[in-house]
Order: sequence, then structure tokens, then C-alpha cells
Amino acid sequence: ASGYTLLRDPRYNKGLAFIEKERDAHYLRGLLPPAILNQELQEKRIMHNLRQYEVPLHRYTAMMDLQERNERLFYKLLIDNVEELLPVVYTPTVGEACQKYGSIYRRPQGLYISLKEKGKILEVLKNWPEKAIQVIVVTDGERILGLGDLGCQGMGIPVGKLSLYTALGGVRPSACLPITIDVGTNNEKLLKDEFYIGLRQKRATGKEYAELLDEFMTAVKQNYGEKVLVQFEDFANHNAFDLLAKYSSTHLVFNDDIQGTASVVLSGMIASLKLVGGTLADHTFLFLGAGEAGTGIAELIALEISKRTEAPLEETRKKIWLVDSKGLIVSSRSESLQHFKKPWAHVHEPVKELVDAVKAIKPTVLIGTSGVGKTFTKEVIEAMASFNEKPLILALSNPTSQSECTAEEAYTWSKGRAIFASGSPFDPVEYDGKVFVPGQANNAYIFPGFGLGLIISGAIRVRDEMLLAASEALAAQVTQENYDKGLIYPPFTNIRKISAQIAANVAAKTYELGLASHLPQPKDLVKYAESCMYSPIYRNYR
Ligand code: NAP
Ligand code: MN
Repeated sequence: ASGYTLLRDPRYNKGLAFIEKERDAHYLRGLLPPAILNQELQEKRIMHNLRQYEVPLHRYTAMMDLQERNERLFYKLLIDNVEELLPVVYTPTVGEACQKYGSIYRRPQGLYISLKEKGKILEVLKNWPEKAIQVIVVTDGERILGLGDLGCQGMGIPVGKLSLYTALGGVRPSACLPITIDVGTNNEKLLKDEFYIGLRQKRATGKEYAELLDEFMTAVKQNYGEKVLVQFEDFANHNAFDLLAKYSSTHLVFNDDIQGTASVVLSGMIASLKLVGGTLADHTFLFLGAGEAGTGIAELIALEISKRTEAPLEETRKKIWLVDSKGLIVSSRSESLQHFKKPWAHVHEPVKELVDAVKAIKPTVLIGTSGVGKTFTKEVIEAMASFNEKPLILALSNPTSQSECTAEEAYTWSKGRAIFASGSPFDPVEYDGKVFVPGQANNAYIFPGFGLGLIISGAIRVRDEMLLAASEALAAQVTQENYDKGLIYPPFTNIRKISAQIAANVAAKTYELGLASHLPQPKDLVKYAESCMYSPIYRNYR
């Protein structure tokens, strides 16, 4: 290939880092200025430039440009500056990027499969240049973060999630495929936007929707085989539950909003036992919000307790209560409940308000997954603190404006006794002379390592036990030093090491369950996971 082509291929381009010998060998003479900058210097330069931008979206587009220009440098930046850049390439900035995706659109970045491609999805997959795909992240754009229906512009989410698969989990970029399925949008603003990139029609539903998704799932398995991981992301909750149920027995599927969230939150609870004492089975849980996140977390907690105590699931579920928009979920409401809420309809008189439910159930753990902000009021937190020495309060709704309470509120209203973690990041809080560092129950702790574990074992199905394995591995990474600050999650700086630990534990469980196809099983799974991880260091071309 000519030097000119080399410079324009993001997978191989090294920019000014090409050394003299490479410039000679690959016809690069004259195509580059004379200076040679090594990767560290390039990194320093780009970080310096990024920090000049005051508008977050400008940092996002600068990162996307880098990804399209020099892939290894993009990942080097992301890996070395993970805490600083995670909010740029993922939430919250990616949300704004999706909202404005039509205007900032530069290059496709992933595959678009719309109703127009019906009957031709297999051919569409074959148009993608890479053949050996290991992870697909797919959205239909109907519930992007907490921002609602963004239609085809949801593409920012699969792209962002997959860059975390590579940076945090070490999955090769060429093995990652972002896909957006466009069945229309009900977002009036986008339908009227002249720069909108998607189909200009209302969402297809019912049979038409199911058929397109089915063609897609069939084509994926046909083209990439049984071991390709399909991660469903940001689907509206009815479709999310249905798709997961429908394909989990025939495909390797994972829903991050339901299962990834459950795993990361369970991990925080396991870790918090070190601070509050007792076992999970000693606790009583109350959720505000009974959707994908709430019921997903509830089910995994029940499973973990069941596994540890050998009590049947029907029993362990009784320690877990959920409140939805109509109040406490109780047995008298059973008839009218959606199927995923039914297991949580316990015998109790109806309770409308959260604060009354708190007083009636007396939970030790309170979890917010309703998407509605400011719902953990002073009265609610004070009630929690009145019957718990150390109440565990998890305000998981995103973005920050939707958080059930702030870190400061949780610490102040509980007089410094709450153990607090949230979905969106909060700064450390000083209360009564002590500094509390709130943890962030970020899904990015789990899914990259989880996916890596599936890949290295050649998993063909996902089982809940593998999610438990991931939770336990993450919880085991919290150090005494972290606990001393009130943290129930480890810092992100060591995330690649953490991902390797998670991957190893997930892979071990996959082998144990007989669902691994990569045989024989490697002896040291942690070492093996680490050895499989993509490195962004430039290669030499001689
Ligand atoms: P979802 O499936 O739409 O569920 C929302 C639930 O909240 C529903 O059960 C809904 O009740 C209930 N609800 C809505 N308004 C309420 C109110 N005023 N009072 C009581 N309940 C109310 O949404 P989701 O996917 O579970 O996400 C929920 C939130 O969790 C979002 O803000 C999301 O950002 C956050 N989340 C955080 C993490 C994380 O921290 N790692 C991960 C995933 C999601 P009905 O069923 O009666 O409509
Ligand atoms: Mn999501």
C-alpha cells in the first residue's frame, strides 16, 4: 500500500510517530514533516489540546476525530486518562452528542439497519469490513440514557460503549461492531429536524418490529457464529425484557441496562457488608422504581442470597420490596401488574407514598431507580437513619439532575451515617470534619470485563450465575483504603486490572457451567485474560 493510504487508515496510522526507517520502507518520505514525535509526546499534546476546550461537546468531537485518524492513540489516551475521559466519550457528554448527532455527524462509525434493509440484513452485515466480530452493541434508540427516544441518533451509545469495551476490557477494536436499528422515532423534534439522520416516520411496533429484530438476530448468528456477544443497549423497557427473554436461550445476549446494572449494584452491596456488617440475607431492600434497573437488581440480589443460604428464590424475594409510580407493589395489585413486576407482589396493605413505605417496611437498604430526581427527601433519609445505624442509600437515577438525592443530602440528613453511592458522579463531601467519598455505581465497572470473560472462554450463553461471578470479583477489588473513605467501589484508575479479574471469574463460571467452547481451559485465567487484552502501544512496521 502507498504511504498516503497508510496515513489515512486509522488502524495503522501513527502520524508523526513513524520513525525514519518506517518512512523509508512505506513511501512516507515527504508526506510528513521532518519531526518525529513518540506516542507519549503525541498523547501529551492531544491531552493539552483537549483541556483547552471548555464545551464538553467539543472534547467529544475532538476524541471522535482522533478515533477516526489514529485509533491506537485514541485508546492510549482513553486508557491512561480514564477518569478524565470516561465522561467525555460516555455519559454524560455522549448524551448531548446523540441529541445533536445529526449536526455533528462526520462518518458512519457503525452499521445502520433500518426498515429499508428488511430482507437484506445478512447482506448489510457483509458490507462491514471486519469479519471476525466478537461483540456487537445494538440499540434501537428508544430510551437513550435518561433522554428518551433519539431514534437513529442513538448510534453514539453503541459507539461509546464499544470504545469502553476496548479501553477498559481490552477487546480488540476490530472485533467490535456498533449497530443501530432504525424503526423510526416518535421524537417530534427530530422528525422535524432538517439534519436528522434517521427514517422520517413513527416507530414501527408489534409484528413489523419483531420481524426486523428476528431477521437481525438470525443474520448475526449466521454471519458471526454462536460465540458473538450481542449486547442490547437502551431499548425501551417492554422491548428490553422481551428481547432478552426471547433470545437468551438461542444466542449469547446480554442487556446492560438490566443485567449489567444489576451486577454492578449487587457488587456495591456485597462490598458494603464490610462496612455495615452481617450478610446480604440479614438485609431488607426497598426500591423506588420497578423497571429494567430496579427489577434486574432485585432479581440478582434474590439469586445471590438464595445461592448463599440455599433458600428457594421465592423465599429470598420476600426480603425485597419495590415501589413504582402507583405505590408499593403488593399482592392485591397482582392482576394489573406487568409480568416482570409479578414476583415482587408480596402480601401487604397498599401504600402510596415512598416515605410511608419506608416506615412500614423498615428497609436497611434503599435504592432509587425511578429516573425521578429529589425523591429521597429529608423525611425519607431521616426515617432510614432512625432505624439503621448505617443505612445504605443508593441514588441511581441519571443524569445528575435526576438523582434521588445528592451525596451531601444523604450524608447531612443521616448525620454522617449513610453509606452512599450514586449513578452520576458526586464530589467528596465534608461533614462534621470528616471527608466522605461517594461511590459511583457505573456499569462501566462490569460490562467490559464481563464481555472479556465471555470471549476468552468462548461462552455460548449468558447465565445469571455469571453475573454473580462478576459482582463478587468486583467487590473483592475494594481495598481497606477505599473502605476507610466510605467507598464501596474501587477507583477507575486500575480498571484494566479489575476487568481482568472480572473476566477470569466470569470465564471460570462459564467453564463450570459447561457453556465454554474454548478448550482446554487455561490454567491461570487472570494471566490469560491479561494476555488477551488489546494494547494501544504502536507496533513497528519494518
Ligand atoms: P424504566 O425501565 O423506565 O423504569 C422506571 C421505573 O420507575 C418504573 O417502574 C416506573 O413506574 C417508576 N417510576 C417512574 N416515576 C416514578 C415516580 N414518580 N414514583 C415512583 N416510581 C416511579 O427505567 P430504568 O431503565 O429502570 O432506569 C431508571 C433509572 O435508573 C434511570 O434514571 C437510569 O438512568 C438509572 N440507571 C442507573 C444505572 C446505574 O447507576 N448504573 C444503571 C441503569 C439505570 P411504572 O412502572 O409504574 O411506570
Ligand atoms: Mn444503557
